[in-house]
Amino acid sequence: QQDESPKEGILDSSPVANPNAMNVIVVAAECAPWSKTGGLGDVVGELPKALARRGHRVMVVAPKYGNYAEPKGVGVLKRYKVDGQDILKRMVLLCRVAVEVPWYIPCGGVCYGDENLVFIANDWHTSLLPVYLKAYYRDMGLMKYARSLLVIHNIAYQGRGPVDDFSLVDLPDHYLDLFKFYDPVGGEHFNIFAAGLKTADRVVTVSHGYAWELKTPEGGWGLHEIISDNDWKFRGIVNGISTEIWNPNSDVYLTSDGYTNYSLETLQLGKAQCKAALQHELGLPVRGDVPIIAFIGRLDYQKGVDLIAEAKPWLVGQDLQIVMLGTGRRDLEDMIRGIESAHRDKARAWIGFSVKMAHRITAGADVLLMPSRFEPCGLNQLYAMMYGTVPVVHYVGGLRDTVQQFDPLNDVGLGWTFERAEANRMIQALQHCLDTYRNHKKSWERLQVRGMMQDLSWDNAAQRYEEVLIAAKYQW
Ligand code: ADP
Repeated sequence: QQDESPKEGILDSSPVANPNAMNVIVVAAECAPWSKTGGLGDVVGELPKALARRGHRVMVVAPKYGNYAEPKGVGVLKRYKVDGQDILKRMVLLCRVAVEVPWYIPCGGVCYGDENLVFIANDWHTSLLPVYLKAYYRDMGLMKYARSLLVIHNIAYQGRGPVDDFSLVDLPDHYLDLFKFYDPVGGEHFNIFAAGLKTADRVVTVSHGYAWELKTPEGGWGLHEIISDNDWKFRGIVNGISTEIWNPNSDVYLTSDGYTNYSLETLQLGKAQCKAALQHELGLPVRGDVPIIAFIGRLDYQKGVDLIAEAKPWLVGQDLQIVMLGTGRRDLEDMIRGIESAHRDKARAWIGFSVKMAHRITAGADVLLMPSRFEPCGLNQLYAMMYGTVPVVHYVGGLRDTVQQFDPLNDVGLGWTFERAEANRMIQALQHCLDTYRNHKKSWERLQVRGMMQDLSWDNAAQRYEEVLIAAKYQW
């Protein structure tokens, strides 16, 4: 997916002098704001900047899907033969190019070489990179000090294929065993993520909850044993968020069409104005007293949108408004369209990928619903909390790490969680949430304020990543 208005992702403050500064190359299939289908793009847009702020020299290698205005060509053109548009062939190309980048692309005027070098690969798309680093260089006694770190953003996509796919990845025959994988679902197959996890010097995933789940048969999607066997090099680090792009006080999508920027000080007035603007923009009755429940995300099995469909009879019986933004599986798109057409007075479905609407809904809604069956980290709940929008989430993965259940007695917590991905559990959580919204205004406002006051910036996470980079460098 390409966003309509990319902005330059340059460093905004001067980096600190860091005695452990490293040369970092982040390689990924997407990088916001230029390309993004989900959280991976956001992370690759922000983590490099946060590492650079800590004094590391950081470069990002990502495919050029379109003619972006800002990124300039570096004048280095290397040709590889790839035929076809096949995703595997494209990712082979990306990883083969990326592993050579330190020799050809100057960063700040100087090529990296292999000194102090670490590659950060992301998900199955770039899991070939650690393997190429080993096969093309380290096996030959070259790039001895270069390290690779592989980040698991989502284990559900593994780059599986028939064993014959091995012929497409340009590796010596004895590498085949690294990729050959058997599980009851896929039988014997070719598995790129498996090879990357075994080969990378370090493996990180995007939350502690997900790190734990990845070692279970259900959570690891077949790869749990590989992850458990490599526990010594594996760690969970919760993603941060961009506090510039996702900041209600400076959000560029809130400066027109009746929306307004707001901060902690102006929360109640500002949010009320955004809510009215959202209702107006979507053609819903403009009412301040009715709670707006929002869903934003890919429409697929993972995100649990079908639970919303299952809960529809209860939802439409309540005095509330539902706003859903998403794109994905056809049947789920039709399903949320169906909710809108049957209940035009209270439901809206926006089918498509719109960054602008994601921001506006996050600002205008009262509640963000995330019934995800699994959720490696989840970013929308973090964005929501920054905007004083209260999350109601399935207690899983990164949602467990980041949304502490509200406790009215002690007046702590950030939202509501439910234990199983079932419609009746979700309804119960929503009932408690709506009761607080309607009948305990002060508690609600304190919940909003607690959410907004958190430091969810990338700075913490970047420090954790740095620890992993240093451990990899010295092979602790
Ligand atoms: P995932 O990576 O599994 O898709 P995350 O919650 O980690 O889920 O990240 C989702 C990101 O994609 C967020 O930035 C969210 O706002 C964005 N997003 C998802 N669907 C849409 C959509 N239809 N329109 C705009 N942004 C979307």
